[in-house]
Amino acid sequence: MLSIEGLSSAYGRIAVLHEVSLTVATGEIVALVGSNGAGKTTLLRTLSGVQPMTGGRLSFEGHAIGHLKAHARVGLGIAQSPEGRQVFGPLSVEDNLRLGAYRKRDGQEAQRLERIYAMFPVLAERRRIAAMSLSGGQQQMLAIGRALMAAPKLLLLDEPSLGLAPLLVDQILAAVVALKAEGMTILLVEQNASAALAIADRGYVLETGRVVLEGAGQALLADPKVRSAYLGL
Ligand code: ATP
Repeated sequence: MLSIEGLSSAYGRIAVLHEVSLTVATGEIVALVGSNGAGKTTLLRTLSGVQPMTGGRLSFEGHAIGHLKAHARVGLGIAQSPEGRQVFGPLSVEDNLRLGAYRKRDGQEAQRLERIYAMFPVLAERRRIAAMSLSGGQQQMLAIGRALMAAPKLLLLDEPSLGLAPLLVDQILAAVVALKAEGMTILLVEQNASAALAIADRGYVLETGRVVLEGAGQALLADPKVRSAYLGL
C-alpha cells in the first residue's frame, strides 16, 4: 500500500531523515520505534505532506504522492492522528470528530461517527463536552476518532500511548488491534517500543534519521540490540 524509498527530510539546513526506506502492506500494523528525536514524527509529517521532503520517493497504492499537498493525500486515504493529540479544545467532542470528515463528504459521515462512538463509548457519553475537558486518554481516543472520520485506508498514529497510564495504554493499543481486525492498515510511531512491537506485524527501528533494524515485530522484540537500547532489558 505504501512505499517509501530513500526519503530525506530537513528543517532548513538541518537534515533529519537520511534516505529512509520502508513499506507498509495492506492490512498490516507496522511499528516505527526509536528514541526521542530519532525523526519518527518528522517521517509521519513528511508522509502526510505537512513537512516537505528533500529527496526520495513516496508512493501510495502504486501512485507517486510526494508532490501532492496534504489535503490531497487525505483525499487519497492517508490520515494522521498527531503527536500530542492536538484536538480543538473549545470545540465539542462531536465537532472535533465532524471536522475529521472535512475532506471526506461522502454521505457516510453519520455511520462513521456511530462506529467511532461504538469503539470509544466514553466519547459518545461526552459528545457535547468541550474537548479540552477530556482526560488525556479520552483526548487520544478523540484524535484517533477524528482521523478515522476521514475514512482512511492508511492510518498514521503518532505516539498514541504518550503520557497515558498503563491501563489506558492497553485500551488504546487494543483499539489499534481492533482496527486492524476490521481491515485497517496502520503505521504506528511509538517510543514505547515493547508495546508497539508486541502488536505489530513488522517494525523498523529509527536512529538519528536512519533505519538501523527492521523485521517481524516479535523478532525485533527478541533482538538483543533492541532489548538493550529500547526496552531497558
Ligand atoms: P519525539 O518522540 O520526541 O517526537 P521523534 O523521533 O518523533 O522524537 P522528531 O520530532 O521527528 O523526532 O525530531 C527529529 C529531529 O528534528 C530532532 O533533532 C528535532 O530536534 C528536530 N526537529 C523537530 N521538529 C523541528 C522543527 N520544527 N524545527 C527544527 N528542528 C526540528
